[in-house]
Amino acid sequence: MEEKTSFLKNKIDFDSPNKNIMPITSSIDNEGKLRIGGCSIEELVKKYDSPLYILDETTLRNSCKAYKKALERYYPGESLPIYASKANSSIFMSSLIASEGFGLDAVSEGELLTALKGGVPTEKIVFHGNNKSDKEIEFAVQNNIKIIVDNDHDLKRLEKISNFLNIDLEIMVRFTPGIECHTHEYIRTGSFDSKFGFGLEYLKTLFKVISHTKHLKLNGLHAHIGSQIFELDPHKDLGEIMVNVILEAKKYGHDIQELNVGGGLGIKYTQEDDPPSIDEWVKTISFSVIKACEKNKITFPKLMCEPGRSIVSTAGVTVYKIGAFKEIPGIRTYLSVDGGMSDNPRPITYQSSYSACLVSNPLNLNSRNKYTVAGKHCESGDVLFKEIELSDCNTGDLICVFGTGAYNLSMSSNYNRIPRPAALLVCNGEADIIQKRESPHDLLKYDVLPNRFIKQS
Ligand SMILES: *Cc1c(COP(=O)(O)O)cnc(C)c1O
Repeated sequence: MEEKTSFLKNKIDFDSPNKNIMPITSSIDNEGKLRIGGCSIEELVKKYDSPLYILDETTLRNSCKAYKKALERYYPGESLPIYASKANSSIFMSSLIASEGFGLDAVSEGELLTALKGGVPTEKIVFHGNNKSDKEIEFAVQNNIKIIVDNDHDLKRLEKISNFLNIDLEIMVRFTPGIECHTHEYIRTGSFDSKFGFGLEYLKTLFKVISHTKHLKLNGLHAHIGSQIFELDPHKDLGEIMVNVILEAKKYGHDIQELNVGGGLGIKYTQEDDPPSIDEWVKTISFSVIKACEKNKITFPKLMCEPGRSIVSTAGVTVYKIGAFKEIPGIRTYLSVDGGMSDNPRPITYQSSYSACLVSNPLNLNSRNKYTVAGKHCESGDVLFKEIELSDCNTGDLICVFGTGAYNLSMSSNYNRIPRPAALLVCNGEADIIQKRESPHDLLKYDVLPNRFIKQS
């Protein structure tokens, strides 16, 4: 019988980690147990407790290298891959992507600070957001960070600041290219009905307005179609649309030298997912920009892309300990774990699917049962897996969920006052803490009891 969940037997794609379910260093040791980055998952949980986020350095670096290599291979002009830090923001991640020569995209002062602390050069950071605060804009300008203008409100404030300081500011403009793609409604951003960026129809007016400012220099365009995209066609169209906008901007005196095509490449969460490789994705975008530039006889702009998920998701796993079982005869068996929607809000938010295995039996040998894996939060919808095949398991066994490197820790909460798990980095048999585990006491740190509620003795 073909085993549906025996994904450890899949051939590993080292060049494009997003095409694997597991980190590329995943293996099974002599005792038949799961290892990642040369570390025994069971030993890590003994030492660091559960739930536990684990990131595999080799998978992370291979993902970065794949983008760099493909850009060098397919794009004849200058290029810069930029990591979309909202996928997983930490001083460690900033430091790692800086060491790979990447830039970084941030959308808040917190993400900007994290990037600077991690050593990302300011000239490689871009600042996004559809509602930047005055303080955030000032922080970015003070630190020489390029701002991506999302709307008129941004534009007005940047004009004011540049006039006040009497300095020229280079800006990029984000627009919605009007491209539909098949992904979840909440993470679709490229179609006309989106809260992000300027509409195509407004660009002429915008270019006119910018050309009348004293200090704003428009030198870049940005568009991001959406996230977890499996098709290549939307990006095939994007190159041509953006080059047409460059031509339009030229009529108003703007010399656009940078194109940022956003991110969005999907990853393989389950056996059914079949995303393109990083190489194919970069090739598609490069060729579409090259073709449009050649057709219009313009020099190749600097090409930037902004992958988030496809850099970090496959590198990450979450390990939970199994606690309670509840069998509802003839219906289902619930198995509850020691985390859930606070450390991974994607299933309850987007109905996302994942893959998982038992740490002590990754190949899922012997008898298999269907389980519903529930989190420990007070929501009936806090379910990580509706139906998953696992071998017989018991209270105390460990379950490893794959593909949790992106949009898990960065979207985590303290719902039910549950502390965030620790995060580890593994490489060559060594493990390092990259984020400490929170304690319940940490969660009280910002609570304040008004004086009149404190009992007088
Ligand atoms: C979210 C986002 C990205 C990254 O998207 P992924 O799907 O994680 O690659 C890139 N650019 C912008 C503007 C985004 O909002």
